Amino acid sequence: MASLFCQAATCMHNKAGSCGANNIQVSNAQSETFCDTYTASDSFVASEDNYVQYTTLVSRTDSEFGEDFENPPRITCNVGACMHNQSFRCSAGDVQIGQPHHGMKCNCKTYRTK
Ligand code: SF4
Ligand code: SF4
Repeated sequence: MASLFCQAATCMHNKAGSCGANNIQVSNAQSETFCDTYTASDSFVASEDNYVQYTTLVSRTDSEFGEDFENPPRITCNVGACMHNQSFRCSAGDVQIGQPHHGMKCNCKTYRTK
């Protein structure tokens, strides 16, 4: 995948329109796609345990080497009806995730029906 852009400024992984997560999960429900990894910034409870989990499993921010945005997040996707879905991986050249609506649903705008 070439790049991942995201309009969800309220997500804790959003870094100036790029996604700072190592991996994201895209899912679908009620006929819409959404980023399942969205985490509202104000919902993150700071604690040592949470921080370790966050930095090792999700974030590409390293305390010594800074942030790595050269490689976009890997996308696992269970939207089987999308033409870009290949064995639960996204094969699109660029992916755009939209702003949250209805609380936390950030649609995948790159979704195209097969
Ligand atoms: S909503 Fe998803 S794609 Fe956007 S910054 Fe958050 S985790 Fe990354
Ligand atoms: S473009 Fe399609 S396969 Fe890729 S993340 Fe979006 S819905 Fe999933």
